[in-house]
Parts: sequence; structure tokens; C-alpha cells
Amino acid sequence: MNVSILGKNGLKTVNLNRRKASREKCLNCAGWSLKAVTTCEFTDCPLYAFRSGKGKQNAKARAKAIRNYCLWCMNGQRAEVSKCTCPDCPLFPYRQGGIDRSAEIDPTQKKTAYRSGFGSYLMATRTTGH
Ligand code: SF4
Repeated sequence: MNVSILGKNGLKTVNLNRRKASREKCLNCAGWSLKAVTTCEFTDCPLYAFRSGKGKQNAKARAKAIRNYCLWCMNGQRAEVSKCTCPDCPLFPYRQGGIDRSAEIDPTQKKTAYRSGFGSYLMATRTTGH
């Protein structure tokens, strides 16, 4: 799924899956320092085991880790996770266990655009400057 996420130098378009999403979130958390992700000491973080983005991963455990991370991010409020307004977060499409495609970029469009929701608002403001 092609989405626009926050990278070291601003928004970037990536072909995302859960493995990459976890890795990207850890890089974001560590200020995009590869070393800081590798040497992370927050062993109680739900994403800890998936931070390298490499190796054999249990897909169910990874999906659960993402849900748990989002729950932590929203102070344990499930309703707030579903209402999350951060489509630039790499975990956004996977925050509820399934796949939310609302932030997906239409590959047939030359310019990047979100299908709906807060992303369209962001794109509109980026284009018009309002
Ligand atoms: S998708 Fe939303 S709830 Fe999940 S970590 Fe990102 S900002 Fe937090």
C-alpha cells in the first residue's frame, strides 16, 4: 500500500506493510538514528521486538504490537485510536488490527492525494496555503 509518511526530511511516499511500518515508527521515535534504534533500551515498548525490521517475525504478534502501541499512544482509549488524525504516522493504516486504506495514495494519480479524511484537508492546505 502506497502511503505518505513522515520521514527524516519531511513527507515521503513508501510502499508500506506492517514490518516496514514498525521499523519506520521506531526510526521516528529515535530521531531517525539507526544506532539509537539498534541500541534502544525500552524493552517494554510493544514494538521493541520488531524495531530492526529484519528477521523472522510472528505476523500476529506484530499486528498486536502495533495495536498495543497505538493504544499506548492514545492513553488506552480505543475510540481515540480509531479516530486518530495522523495519517502521516506509519502505524496509521494498521492501528486497529485490520488495514485502514483511507490514507492510501492512488497510484494512478500523478500528484499524491489521500482518498479521504484528514489527509485531504492536509493536501488542500498544502496546495492552497490556507
Ligand atoms: S497511528 Fe495514531 S494512534 Fe497509532 S501511533 Fe500513530 S499517532 Fe498514535
